[in-house]
Order: sequence, then structure tokens, then C-alpha cells
Amino acid sequence: MASIIDGKAIASQIKEEVKAGVGKLADRGISVTLAVIQVGQDPASCVYVRNKKRTCAELGIRSLAYDLAEETEEQELLALIEKLNAQADVDGILVQLPLPAHISEKKIIAAIDPAKDVDGFHPMNAGALATGESGFLPCTPYGVIQLLKRSGIALDGKECVVVGRSNIVGKPMAQLLLRENATVTIAHSHTQNLAAVTRRADVLVVAVGKRQMITKEYIKPGAAVIDVGMHRDDSNKLCGDVDYADVFDTAGAITPVPGGVGPMTIAMLMYNCLESARRRMEK
Ligand code: NDP
Repeated sequence: MASIIDGKAIASQIKEEVKAGVGKLADRGISVTLAVIQVGQDPASCVYVRNKKRTCAELGIRSLAYDLAEETEEQELLALIEKLNAQADVDGILVQLPLPAHISEKKIIAAIDPAKDVDGFHPMNAGALATGESGFLPCTPYGVIQLLKRSGIALDGKECVVVGRSNIVGKPMAQLLLRENATVTIAHSHTQNLAAVTRRADVLVVAVGKRQMITKEYIKPGAAVIDVGMHRDDSNKLCGDVDYADVFDTAGAITPVPGGVGPMTIAMLMYNCLESARRRMEK
């Protein structure tokens, strides 16, 4: 039977630490500020943006809201980013994805000052992670590392398998595990005999975007299973990429959905905002 990795509790702990750090800066007259840009009214994006703004308020971080119309031109958005890049009191710039089809996400991410890229998506920050330089780490994989470390799950020398190779989850996840001295395998849609690969894993991170795809046949007994996926099941309840009930007796530790990786993503975003303000101070 697996022990449950409580993402909600660990995220609360991190948020308390961030709140204390924000308070210390406030004592020195410095406020931490995050600019949140949303284009259009995608319902899922509205929920994410609302949560981010609410968490900012809870931790004493000032959030500046830019709610732009769906038909906003790419040029207009680029101009706003340029303005926020130049604004000395803005520590973080977050553009909620996905963007409407007529705007290039690549162009927009590349326009954000890497020193304010608290999502960690800018190619400069991706390069910094790959080469071992300091930069901003993408919030979801960074949150997974925190979950594992704070749950006392060893990574050094362990077999870790990441299913998924997206730029925002799978690839940086693998880089971060490598940085922890794990032996890392990345699996993807072309991987042959996926279950044979995942059954090697002491730590299995699943970011595949396929509802409840990972069943007990994919799990080495006793493995730690981290489920990044986020879906709705047939009764509209949140569920992950892992079939939690099926895997529960085989895994040694597991993250639930909800209450696993999800809360960590937002906690690490807040952490990155604080970190950005600290770096601004040191300049
Ligand atoms: P993407 O769709 O960008 O990537 C999915 C990856 O899974 C791809 O690399 C793809 O391979 C691989 N894949 C797809 N099908 C298979 C298969 N049958 N076997 C093996 N590999 C497969 O997704 P994201 O990385 O953006 O997100 C993954 C999941 O995590 C989603 O459910 C998303 O909602 C969730 N998510 C949750 C977050 C949170 O805060 N909890 C944050 C971000 C994402 P290939 O490259 O070959 O196509």
C-alpha cells in the first residue's frame, strides 16, 4: 500500500516560507510584484489566473492584472511586455497559456525579460537549466523536486523515468532529476514497450496528458509515483494520468489528484517571484 505524498501540505509549508520572505522584504520597504496577463476568457485559464492572484494576495505579493480581449493583436501584447520589462518595480511577468491561435506563444515567451520570467519558460532559462547555470526553474517540475525531497524520497543514484517530453514539464523534469544525480530515462509517444521502461523506475514521473493511462502493470513494486496529469473523469471529478486506485497497492508512495502536484506549481511560482525580488535587490 502506498503512502500518500501530500502536495497540499507541502505547498502550504512553502507558501509560509515565501510569506515570511515577502514580509522581510516589506520591512525593508520592498514589495514583491507579479504582473499577470490573460488574453481571452478560456474557462480553465480563468480558474488558474484567479488562483494565482488569490495566492499572491495571501502571501503579500502585489499582483497587477492585465485582462486583455481575445482579439488583442500580437503587437499589442508585445508592447505591454516591453513596458513591464522596463518597469523596475515589476519582479515577475506571467502570460497565461494557451494564447489565442493568432498570437505566437514562442514569440511572446521570448519577449519576456529572462530576469522576470518567473514561469521559467524563456529559452535563456531553459538553457541555464541545461548547462547548470542559475536561472528560473519551471514551476511544475521544480514543485515535483520539492515534493520528492520534502517527502524524504532519495534521488541520488536512483532510476527515474519521466513519461512525457514537453518543454514545460517532461524535459525540465528530466534535467532537474539529472541535477539530483538520478539515472534518468525519458519516455514519449515513440517509446517501445513503455511498461518495461517504466517498471525500471524507482521514481516514476508521469506527464503524458492521457487520462488514467498508467495502471499497475507500469509500476515497479514500491516505486514513488508522481502524477502531473490533470483531467476530469466521467463524473466530472479531477483525476490524473495515473489510475490511482489501480496503482495504489503496488506503489510505495503516490501523489493524489487533486492535492499532489497541482498545489506545488502555484507555490513554486510564488517562490520564483520572491526570488526575483531578492535578485533585484542584490543588483
Ligand atoms: P504535452 O501534451 O505537451 O506532452 C505530453 C507528452 O506525453 C509528450 O511528450 C508525448 O510524446 C507524451 N505521450 C503522449 N502519449 C503518449 C503515450 N501513449 N506513451 C508515452 N508518451 C506519450 O503535455 P504537458 O507536458 O503540457 O502536460 C502533461 C500533463 O500534465 C497534462 O495532463 C497537463 O494537463 C498536466 N499539467 C499539469 C500541471 C499541474 O500544475 N499539475 C502543469 C502542466 C501540465 P511526444 O512528445 O512523442 O508527442
